[in-house]
Amino acid sequence: MHFTFVTLFSSLIEGYFSDSILKRAIAKGILDISYLNPRDYSTNKHHKVDDTAVGGGAGMVMNPQPLFDCLDDLQKRDGDVHIVFVTPVAKPFTQNDAKRLATKSHVAFVSGRYEGIDERVIERYADEVFSIGDYILTGGELASLVLCDAISRNVSEVLGNSESLEIESFESELLEAPSFSKPKQYAGLSVVSEYLKGNHSKIRSLKSALSEAKTKFFRPEQLLKHKTRKSYEK
Ligand code: SAM
Repeated sequence: MHFTFVTLFSSLIEGYFSDSILKRAIAKGILDISYLNPRDYSTNKHHKVDDTAVGGGAGMVMNPQPLFDCLDDLQKRDGDVHIVFVTPVAKPFTQNDAKRLATKSHVAFVSGRYEGIDERVIERYADEVFSIGDYILTGGELASLVLCDAISRNVSEVLGNSESLEIESFESELLEAPSFSKPKQYAGLSVVSEYLKGNHSKIRSLKSALSEAKTKFFRPEQLLKHKTRKSYEK
């Protein structure tokens, strides 16, 4: 699968792929990453990419010209590219979106900077827009990386053990049950005793109860969704 980051600051992103799971996936040819800088497409003699907002308002807005030319070029190179803008003015990105986008062959993430991107660019090129949460970042690079990482985990063979996907939080609506590593006793603290007894069906049902308890405490609306879905399935 191919990812393109459309960003003024690719160096903020590159380091993330220099280690661990995603580095290995790139080395194996499962993932492929490229970058496009709208500044390289600016026809302004100083390669400017932003200007003051029409109609007033604080801060600078990214101009349409460099982004139109950059995204035209991207679409010319690959007619199948799926273009995603990251912006706080969008629905929140979810695990279902990550799974769905993992079936695409090429996803491009467009990162805003300053006060954001001229709306005409989004209207013309966005296949989808996503927010990563109700807070404001200085730029879209982190948000694009968050999406890319979450999507990549769902691309076949990126994770060594595909079972690890099945039990994760949000694979159903529920959050994951607590996990423990070794040793069984550490600093006077023990792992949940039932986990130690080797009765796998008991461990499964305890994990399911703990998973519901965690979800009820941290994300009650998710538990409600889970219960509603289960009652429909009956
Ligand atoms: N003026 C914009 C607003 O109030 O909605 C915020 C612009 S923000 C400083 C600059 C860029 O960071 C945005 O264009 C977007 O790409 C990115 N960004 C900031 N917060 C984000 C979030 N919660 N989710 C996704 N992208 C975000």
